[in-house]
Amino acid sequence: MLLAQEAEDLILSLVQPLSLLKNSSGDRNTELVDLINANQRILATDVRGKVDFPYWDNSAMDGYAVRYQDVANCSKDQPQVLEIIEEIPAGYLPKKSLQAGQAARIFTGAMLPPNADTIVIQENTQREGNQVKILAAPQPKNFVRYQGSYYQAGEVMLPAGSLITAPDIAVLATAQCSKVPVYRRPKVAILSTGDELINPDAELQPGQIVDSNQYALASLMISYGATPISLGIVPDQLEILKDKISQAINQADIVLSTGGVSVGDYDYVDQILADLGGDIKIRSVAVKPGKPLTVATFKRPDNSSCLYFGIPGNPVSALVSCWRFVVPALKKFSGLAGDVKPSFVKAIAKNDLKSGGKRETYLWGQLQIVEGAYQFSLAGGGHNSANLINLAQTSGLAVLPIGTTAIKAGSEIMVMQV
Ligand code: AMP
Ligand code: MG
Repeated sequence: MLLAQEAEDLILSLVQPLSLLKNSSGDRNTELVDLINANQRILATDVRGKVDFPYWDNSAMDGYAVRYQDVANCSKDQPQVLEIIEEIPAGYLPKKSLQAGQAARIFTGAMLPPNADTIVIQENTQREGNQVKILAAPQPKNFVRYQGSYYQAGEVMLPAGSLITAPDIAVLATAQCSKVPVYRRPKVAILSTGDELINPDAELQPGQIVDSNQYALASLMISYGATPISLGIVPDQLEILKDKISQAINQADIVLSTGGVSVGDYDYVDQILADLGGDIKIRSVAVKPGKPLTVATFKRPDNSSCLYFGIPGNPVSALVSCWRFVVPALKKFSGLAGDVKPSFVKAIAKNDLKSGGKRETYLWGQLQIVEGAYQFSLAGGGHNSANLINLAQTSGLAVLPIGTTAIKAGSEIMVMQV
């Protein structure tokens, strides 16, 4: 049985990211999407702008564009009078260059006229017909946004592997990148095993249970950018299950099956994976919930591969296993640059926390920021891996390391953000 940390490292080492893979036709695993659809996608190439930003020297204020040398010494008592030769609103091309003793009326965002190097804000001026009195000496280069001062053409504006969010969309728009190269969405096949399972819209018969995992796992995968392939409920029958698993392996980058990985008489998953030529890397991890976790890799005839997670069926175990082990693998596969491991934060426990001490234990609840500090409140009700009801609104998993059996309310603990 591996420790959680060992399992995490091993799983991540099995993942070849999309950025390094070629698909069967030799293309990279990328697609072009419209700018507005690039949000939450992962950029597939470094984006470089063709032009500087600002695109040209422009004014940061409403006022007058001047030559600094003309106004360097003026003051309220000794104002400098300049001739106004032009008015330049934003969006217009200045037509005249400033000569000694001249100014141009200018507005925020407008292009500076040739020879101007400084803006005098209109509060420090007095207009008199086609002349303006400068009442205070500005700082040299004041309120000019110089061409290229924020960004120079050709530099990397946004690196490949970035998760694109609203500010990045602004940057891409500015670079006139209206079609954005992103990695394709990972395909994650999801199947639920168990004779007792029914769909949420079926009528519940004695002994049955609604397949909640299918929906919870698909939602989780969607929230990390994957396309779920829902393969539905598969009965605990060796041949049918084998067939479904084989289908899943053939069409997905990652397969998640829930149930059937314990040691019960109907737990066929590991046997099937071995029969289908899977290389089983992990069978169990010293965590609670989620101890039986099967991880296997498959090589397909076209040399592409598939990562298989056989996850316990209990709804809480299933989600905890996915948060802890599947999401990092998905993130790495998706081409995301940087750290893909879960985030653990220090928080104050609001409740006493208990664990058996033999396995790393994850207790679910709410992670909140209260007066600037993280607090963890344990979900009320039973902490049992079949109790999915009190899993609602979970935002953190408190971690009790192996050997720790109790934590007192008020103590500091590590909490995994989910
Ligand atoms: P298993 O891992 O197949 O032994 O299942 C463990 C427990 O989880 C059993 O009580 C199942 O009824 C329950 N379970 C299995 N699969 C699901 C599922 N897809 N949705 C909800 N509960 C499930
Ligand atoms: Mg089962």
